[in-house]
Amino acid sequence: MRTFEEYKEALFKMKPNIYIGDEKVGRDDPRIQGGINIVRLTYELANDKKYKDLITTTSHLTGEKINRFTHIHQNKEDLFKKQRMTKVLCHLCGGCIQRCMGIDALNAVSVITYECDQALGTKYYENFKNYMKFFQENDLAASCASTDAKGDRSKRPSQQENPDAYLRVIETRDDGIVVRGAKQCITNTPYVDEIIVVPCRMMMPDDHDYAVSFAIPADWDGVKLLARPASFHIPDKAEDFATPTLKMGDVETFIIFDDVFVPKDRVFLNGHADHNQTAYAGFLALMFAHFHRHSYTGCKPAISEILASSAALVAEYNGIEETSHARDKISHLLGTAELVFASGESSALHSEKAPSGTQVPDEILTNAGRRLAGENIYEEYKILADLAGGLMATLPFIDTFYNEEVGELAMKYMQRNPRVKPENVLKCFKGLECLGCSDISGLLQVAGLHGGGSPQMETIAMMGRYPLKDLKNISKYLFGIRKNPKRFERSETPVTPREMLKKFRRALIAKQAREEKKENC
Ligand SMILES: Cc1cc2nc3c(=O)[nH]c(=O)nc-3n(C[C@H](O)[C@H](O)[C@H](O)COP(=O)(O)OP(=O)(O)OC[C@H]3O[C@@H](n4cnc5c(N)ncnc54)[C@H](O)[C@@H]3O)c2cc1C
Repeated sequence: MRTFEEYKEALFKMKPNIYIGDEKVGRDDPRIQGGINIVRLTYELANDKKYKDLITTTSHLTGEKINRFTHIHQNKEDLFKKQRMTKVLCHLCGGCIQRCMGIDALNAVSVITYECDQALGTKYYENFKNYMKFFQENDLAASCASTDAKGDRSKRPSQQENPDAYLRVIETRDDGIVVRGAKQCITNTPYVDEIIVVPCRMMMPDDHDYAVSFAIPADWDGVKLLARPASFHIPDKAEDFATPTLKMGDVETFIIFDDVFVPKDRVFLNGHADHNQTAYAGFLALMFAHFHRHSYTGCKPAISEILASSAALVAEYNGIEETSHARDKISHLLGTAELVFASGESSALHSEKAPSGTQVPDEILTNAGRRLAGENIYEEYKILADLAGGLMATLPFIDTFYNEEVGELAMKYMQRNPRVKPENVLKCFKGLECLGCSDISGLLQVAGLHGGGSPQMETIAMMGRYPLKDLKNISKYLFGIRKNPKRFERSETPVTPREMLKKFRRALIAKQAREEKKENC
């Protein structure tokens, strides 16, 4: 496994291909440091006795000890541990741990490349296995670039006026492919080694040029990273008020692939035109979203608990801790955290092994939990603001409290609960400002809603798999329409990954038939 210093050294050697505003910068730009500070936890705590049982595991490919952020889940225990690891690490960085997207994508790639090779005789799983060994041996960090620019949302890739609205293959050569397009809203790319590219939607046969998946280094020729850094710390002069957590940050990236060559051994999917074959592109998009939504059942409860912890603290400092409305509001935050985490645990409990050997969480439970988290996100920030009061948004800069003329006077009015020192009240409100009013706070709220797919996509994924026909037997029996009861326990009959693919193909064929009918009308 790599040390943090080795990770950082490799990062700083990469070619500068990051654009912030009108500047082109390297990985040593201070605006990227916040993200590096978060990834640091995933390397350093892998050797910490408090965390290493969660962060390290054994590679199923080499038998070597590896970081769990480079692991392909092999059993239920792996899924439980991945979820717990995500939660405890998110507590420490105050938000997103940043290293799950890449490995969620690789878990999805493992399932789909195997299926594709079995059905079509391709060699994508071989490519995947070799790449995965390289990824594990070098303890790499990756981003997942799934979300395309997408153009007009009502049109599929091949129907768009701009043929590059979705990333596509513009040339297939003996030694690889050339791709063109853009991916948007991609977390962490300026401070990871590799970009894992997967499609973001269902594809039809006409979309075969867009059915593409591969991995490339983040500074590869033709890759341009348009970065938007965000941080917790709202700068003022009192640097020592910025705790290690509040020095962390995030960089979202708009990636342009300007005619990028991808060597063939790094390609995991390239086209294939008929019904059954293009289904792999959409199935890969769905699988990435699925593994990523399962990761959300770890990180989102962590964010709810961070908000609950802050709400409980400020309620104490404000002297309202024992009031029934404060306890009620905090219980809402905790209830959401517990339920979302339970959905992830339960989806691990009811997970199934794909033919590739990868353990796949239960799809309905994962999506139900992820959707619950998204639906509650703005309510959770509302509770924090409610219990904190307006000062979290209006606090004067910290230096003001140490100003010769007004400092002492200002501190006097920070006193609230008489048992709490005014300096701690100041620290608390500075922390609340960072958590609730910084640019990263706004970002985490939108991520809470859209990360892993818009809420509607979670509903579609959940309902696409739910056995509604069987469910109706309950009321049919109760209403006397059916004579004998039929035992129904949805989670006891999970849909296996291969059944998921079959259902997915059927949906694709039905969708195409609907589109053709519309055209003929
Ligand atoms: C902070 C943050 C981090 C992210 N990180 C990553 C990342 O690391 N990797 C990655 O790949 N993605 C990432 N995403 C992207 C995320 O997955 C997308 O934002 C999400 O899938 C929604 O896509 P969109 O933003 O294009 O919105 P849209 O898909 O445009 O959604 C806008 C609205 O349009 C609706 N809509 C869209 N299409 C249709 C249609 N055909 N019919 C009817 N309604 C439709 C949606 O339901 C929604 O209500 C991130 C997003 C955020 C906010």
